[in-house]
Amino acid sequence: MKPVVKKATPAAIAVLRQATKISPSRTKASDGLLPSKAHQAQNPNSDHNTGLAVDLTHDPARKIDCADIYEQLKRDKRVKYLIFKGQIWIPGRGDKPYTGSNPHNKHLHISIKDNCGNDESPWFPWLDKPKFSTVDQARLAASRLKPLPKKKEKK
Ligand SMILES: [Zn+2]
Repeated sequence: MKPVVKKATPAAIAVLRQATKISPSRTKASDGLLPSKAHQAQNPNSDHNTGLAVDLTHDPARKIDCADIYEQLKRDKRVKYLIFKGQIWIPGRGDKPYTGSNPHNKHLHISIKDNCGNDESPWFPWLDKPKFSTVDQARLAASRLKPLPKKKEKK
């Protein structure tokens, strides 16, 4: 069994922190950094033990669409492998069916390369981009002077 570290790596923590910054109301039900006892028993050599893995809850209604993130992160040099919805992606090997006991339908698993644990650069640069031009931003700022219509909460 891989020994379990006390604290996840900065790169793994950054995934959850940056996702929350993009979507403060996102669901965190399946988020995970370090393994639970049950997880350790089930998967004793998990990258979660070394702090080089992170689980991100799938919440497409609140901008955290793990199907999209799975595709986009294939370009991130820090990724050792990705698991989502019964598929595993490994750099240089492409997508393969994932046969582990948990199909990862509710969260995306990201394993980070050993030498990238301290790299906190943006994990979701395509989601960070400002959506408005400067002119739009000026209009938006002006519109804030009027009270905005109340948003209905989606359930
Ligand atoms: Zn995981």
